Amino acid sequence: MSATAKKSSLELFRLRKTLQTLANKEGSHTELITIYVPPGKQISDALNLLRQEYGTASNIKSNVTRKNVLDAITKAQQKLKLFKDPGEKGIVIFTGALLPKGGAPGTERMEDYVIIPPEPIKIFLYRCDSRFHTEHLQEMLREKETYGIILVDASDATIATLQGKRLTINRQMYSGVTGKTRAGGQSARRYERLRDMQLNEYFTRVGAHANEIFLPIDTLKGIILAGPGPTKYDFQKGSFLNYQLANKILDVVDTAYVEEQGVKEVVEKAPAIMKKVRYIEEKEIMQKFLYEVGHDTGLITYGEAEVRRALQSGQVRLLLLSEGLDMSRVTVKCSACEYTEQHTVKNPEMAAFEQSLAGKPCPKCNAPSLGIAEKVDIVDDLAAIAELSSTDVEVISAETEEGQMLKNAFGGIAAMLRFKSSQG
Ligand SMILES: [Zn+2]
Repeated sequence: MSATAKKSSLELFRLRKTLQTLANKEGSHTELITIYVPPGKQISDALNLLRQEYGTASNIKSNVTRKNVLDAITKAQQKLKLFKDPGEKGIVIFTGALLPKGGAPGTERMEDYVIIPPEPIKIFLYRCDSRFHTEHLQEMLREKETYGIILVDASDATIATLQGKRLTINRQMYSGVTGKTRAGGQSARRYERLRDMQLNEYFTRVGAHANEIFLPIDTLKGIILAGPGPTKYDFQKGSFLNYQLANKILDVVDTAYVEEQGVKEVVEKAPAIMKKVRYIEEKEIMQKFLYEVGHDTGLITYGEAEVRRALQSGQVRLLLLSEGLDMSRVTVKCSACEYTEQHTVKNPEMAAFEQSLAGKPCPKCNAPSLGIAEKVDIVDDLAAIAELSSTDVEVISAETEEGQMLKNAFGGIAAMLRFKSSQG
């Protein structure tokens, strides 16, 4: 697996989390601004567009709406001006006046989200709407890899590729295999032999076409073998596919139909199959970790404090973080003397933690002036340290037994080490 592929579980996790937050903001009555600036576009073009929109919005009749829209556009302009160009992947900005959790109308606060997408965006888009337009980023979350589909039954075969949402039917072929019921007068055995020969020739053809189509695809993540009836298993049993491709068969799926309609059935089932692929990867990663645990090799560590220490000393080869971690790294600051300290706080306990600071004396100057200065998701906090030492990061879901173990038995934070601790 390449370094970029490894980084993507973290990138996708971050994007997923932000989009989740943004999705929760939808349905608000305030006016929300979305702007996508693709690579190759000038920042000045985007700023010009915002200036025009500002002019248009100045004509909005409702005072409240006009103010909200103008403020949101101004905020988007400020954020855009921080960039010299949109970079290789582009920039997506969401701004708007939003109600804080449980807040009453009139207490809206301007919020902004700047996202550098994990892969290049292709559209230049501006929207002013009652929701944020996240759908183009949502699409990015779907797997970018290509999947091969082989649909085969005794009468015909279809070879297709699925990349993201794009389905291509690459080849359609007829078997030329005679039906199961023989014409009168032929000997049963002779008929059977003839049919086997025909099937063999047909499977060889299907295999050759699949090899020709799938082998050159570098991003081929896996193959789904499908079709009505048992023919697909006969095809799988014989070695008609190149061994590299045979190893990539992810699942064998029953369909009611053949040809294009059958392929569409497979596509409907594909998301579940793809998820399974990621789970298999996650299981493999966790199995390697558990092996080190079981064999007491000294090449792992877990728990927040231990992992943080190992990360800071550049000892970590692979950082494992559970998607189920619901914690933040909080910086507490004294407004009287600038004293700071850091804590890790579970998100559901954040309000109680904040309350506990009220009236508490600062350890340095004794003034009761402690408050939360910064909150960072624990995944982002640890990943930032990992990035400094070019440590790979895997965000592991809690969907597998192994993922549950990471979350529960190891506190959701673990690491595989490059070398043993000197104390160990
Ligand atoms: Zn102080």
